[in-house]
Amino acid sequence: MLTISGTVLEKVKLISCLYLIIFLFGNCNAQDMKKSDYEDQREHMVRTQIKSRGISDAEVLKAMRKVPRHLFVPENYRDQSYSDHPLPIGGGQTISQPYIVAIMTEVLDLNRYDKVLEIGTGSGYQAAVLGEICDSVYSIEVVESLGKKAALLLDDLGYENVFVKTGDGYKGWKEHSPYDAIIVTCAPTEVPRPLIDQLHEGGKMVIPVGELYAQELLLLTKEDGEMKQKYLIPVRFVPMKSSEGRKY
Ligand code: SAH
Repeated sequence: MLTISGTVLEKVKLISCLYLIIFLFGNCNAQDMKKSDYEDQREHMVRTQIKSRGISDAEVLKAMRKVPRHLFVPENYRDQSYSDHPLPIGGGQTISQPYIVAIMTEVLDLNRYDKVLEIGTGSGYQAAVLGEICDSVYSIEVVESLGKKAALLLDDLGYENVFVKTGDGYKGWKEHSPYDAIIVTCAPTEVPRPLIDQLHEGGKMVIPVGELYAQELLLLTKEDGEMKQKYLIPVRFVPMKSSEGRKY
């Protein structure tokens, strides 16, 4: 009897060992799969949503292939990170659709020496894309919890050239002005004067302007102190609000 139960015990041990090995390897593979899965999804996103719609700037495409968008999206929406639409990031705010991030970045015609101001940090994704391309990015977020979360993530990911502060972006960030480019990712009903003043001569600003459901994405260029305006596409951004919640 003793011998039989001894053998049984050995068998149980062996099977347990096998299960443990399968579990460990299985888990390892699942993690590897996930990483390359996201890379595949990014590649697919760039091909089917970005390049196919005419975005051709090599630096923009490279940045969008690189930045791990899924980390900027709340966990419960992670499986939709690379889908062709915006996603909620909490507090009624959204991370923009990938194509909108791409077109807004491309029209600014950035180079690696540029200093950029962003209004509306949100998740920090757009700031990361800009951080891949230019020298430095100053980003302002009016909702403190969002700004803090984005700053932590950007820090974790090693974006040492992206600076985030909590505040009202309507006023810009005078201390570091003038900027070579300004990107506004929330919509006022008219272009804020302080942002025009903080733009470098020859600099470009991309901004959605208009009422809640009827905004136009505009590209403004500062020429001899005057703003030249070009209409791009219709868009729908969250409204620009003051720290007290008043719509601009
Ligand atoms: N660029 C973001 C998306 C921005 S959503 C991303 O990549 O995820 C718009 C953001 O603008 C929201 O987070 C909103 O809180 C912020 N916002 C609205 N009014 C603002 C203001 N006056 N100053 C700074 N941020 C503002």
